[in-house]
Amino acid sequence: MNYNMETINTLAQQFAEMFRMAVIEQQKAGEGTPLIAQIENGMREALKQIGQQALGLFLSSMQATPASEIDCPCGGKLHYQRMRTAHVISVFSGVTYERAYYAGCHCKRGKAPLDEQFGLEPGAVTAGLAALLALAGIEFSYDQSPKWLQAYLLFDIAENTVRSETEKMGELQKMLEAELIQQSQDEAYLQERERHPGRIAPRIYGSMDAAKVRIEPRPKKGEKPAEHEDWRDMKVLSWFETEVVTPAQRSIRQRKQAEREHLPLRAKNLRYFCDITEADEFDKLLWATGCSLNADLSPELIFLGDGAVWIWNLVSRYYPNAVQIVDWYHAEEHLETVAAVAFTDPQERPRWLEDVTQALWEGQVEQVISACEVLANSCPEARKAANYFYTNAERMRYDRFRAAGYMIGSGSVESACKQIVSQRLKLPGAQWIVKGAVQTAKARAAWLSGSW
Ligand SMILES: [Zn+2]
Repeated sequence: MNYNMETINTLAQQFAEMFRMAVIEQQKAGEGTPLIAQIENGMREALKQIGQQALGLFLSSMQATPASEIDCPCGGKLHYQRMRTAHVISVFSGVTYERAYYAGCHCKRGKAPLDEQFGLEPGAVTAGLAALLALAGIEFSYDQSPKWLQAYLLFDIAENTVRSETEKMGELQKMLEAELIQQSQDEAYLQERERHPGRIAPRIYGSMDAAKVRIEPRPKKGEKPAEHEDWRDMKVLSWFETEVVTPAQRSIRQRKQAEREHLPLRAKNLRYFCDITEADEFDKLLWATGCSLNADLSPELIFLGDGAVWIWNLVSRYYPNAVQIVDWYHAEEHLETVAAVAFTDPQERPRWLEDVTQALWEGQVEQVISACEVLANSCPEARKAANYFYTNAERMRYDRFRAAGYMIGSGSVESACKQIVSQRLKLPGAQWIVKGAVQTAKARAAWLSGSW
């Protein structure tokens, strides 16, 4: 939108003058000079009031002279009744405006065309405020959100309003996903996509993980709280591409990677999707979102994950040509666990760990399995680890993966689970019902994917 800068300059001068006068009054009264923070807050408060009045005046002024009758969606006619006051909650707090109201059709419908024109719903929050409320709701627990919002917006918002606007945002994301799912099951669409696919990433990564969410329904009045804890898996899927991190931008971890002759990569174009659902439902989301990003058409599709069986089952079924890689950090962790349990000698432990980690780094999985098997008789952890490396051996050929320039550690994806599940859904004071947890997580995933 373009505004008239001259008007803004004039208004700013008036505004400054108003504050100058107020400060002079205060000094005359012997109350001293206010600090800059007080001036700033005073100006913000005044600007909020200006916005509040201006938005109301603006909306009322957009009401043209009402026609005596207009078409009703039912096919009948609506008759002009009178000018009616409406109230919405905007980023400047409550705003009141006047607009023409129509009724009198046989279908008993009423309508204010101005509301439709601007997408306003009397009594509700505006789209501008809704986005800010949801942004608070994906970041802070619902009981903490009003405190932050008050600091930014300078007026009070109820916890339940933040919750419902955030959940609405999650619901929108869910609808978008449902559309993708429907598309991805439509043969005609899929054929058309193969003919005109649009952008295909030269190399794309997928990754899946899961984290536990504690479901604690808020008991209704008079009901006892649930007696046993209910934990559900929130599955998180992310799609991303990578770029090389330049030496100047490298973190300590990335500098260490570079020293070990591994090109430090970082994820870009990250998209997150999540749900609390079984693997055989989650697969629809996996396939649909992959289709929307043409992942299956990419010449190189790589999947990263931990050792969880459901992940590799889904990958094998939907993307049989994908390269499968067990996340380096997960694999390494298994060795650390064995070392911690199997050795008491403080010199023996690091020696064993260093040798076996180096072997793993070089893709010598058989050597790693043997090293674990040697310890297996006296150490059940080592037995478990040996099985884990045996089952996932082909997903741990890190020498080959590094030579191909693949990302082998899904730091970005572990953080996907962390970013979506742990950082928001596990905040203190968080109580979830399944639907609320899913909607909040989906809203957060949409925001982090840049598709708000
Ligand atoms: Zn009608």
